Amino acid sequence: INYQRAAFLTSAPDIAALPADEGIEVAFAGRSNAGKSSALNTLTKQNSLARTSKTPGRTQLINTFSLDPTRRLIDLPGYGFAKVPLAVKQKWQKSLAEYLMKRDSLKGLVVLMDIRHPLKDLDQDLIHWAVESELPVLILLTKADKLGPGARKKTLLEVREAALAFMGDVTVHSFSSLNKQGLSDLEQVLDLWFGA
Ligand code: GDP
Repeated sequence: INYQRAAFLTSAPDIAALPADEGIEVAFAGRSNAGKSSALNTLTKQNSLARTSKTPGRTQLINTFSLDPTRRLIDLPGYGFAKVPLAVKQKWQKSLAEYLMKRDSLKGLVVLMDIRHPLKDLDQDLIHWAVESELPVLILLTKADKLGPGARKKTLLEVREAALAFMGDVTVHSFSSLNKQGLSDLEQVLDLWFGA
C-alpha cells in the first residue's frame, strides 16, 4: 500500500460519528506524547497529516484518514493525560473498549509507547480489550533513537517477553520517526492487516 496517499477524511467527536463501518480500518492509539502523530506523519511521509501537539490531551477528536476508497487509518485521541477530569477519562475508556469490541471494519490496533516507558496500565488495558476482541495488536516502541543499540535490544526483548502474557496476536517492534528505524516493519504489518 502506498501510505503517502493518505488524505484527511473526518474528525469525529465520538465513535458514533465515525465513517460507516465498511471496508478495512487500522487504529493508532497511545498515551499523550507517545509519538503517535509523528509516527503517522512518518508512515505517510506527510509532515502535518496528524497534528503533533505541544499541549497533550487537549483534543479528544478521532481523526480519520483514507488510504483508498476501502481502507482507512484511525488516529485515536491520546490517553493518560493527568489534567483530564476522571469522568472524561472513564467515558473515553468505555467508548474505546466499545469501539475495539464492536467495530467490524477494524482489523488491527497499533499501540504506541515511548520505548523508555513501555506497558503502562492504560496501554495494558487497551491491549487486553483488543485481544478479547480477537484483534491483532502491534506494539510500537517509539523514540527508539533515544536509547543506544544495547538498551534498545534489551527493552525490545523484555516487552516481547511481557507481550506473551496477553495470550493474543501481539507483535512488538521498535520505531523511530527521527531515523525511520522500524518503518518497514510497521508497513509490513499494516499491509498484512489491510490485505494488501
Ligand atoms: P503524540 O502526542 O503521541 O501524537 O506525540 P507526538 O508525535 O506529538 O510526539 C511527542 C514528542 O515526542 C514531540 O516533541 C516529538 O518531537 C517527540 N518525538 C516523536 N517521535 C520521536 C522519535 O522518534 N524520536 C525522538 N527523539 N523524538 C520523537
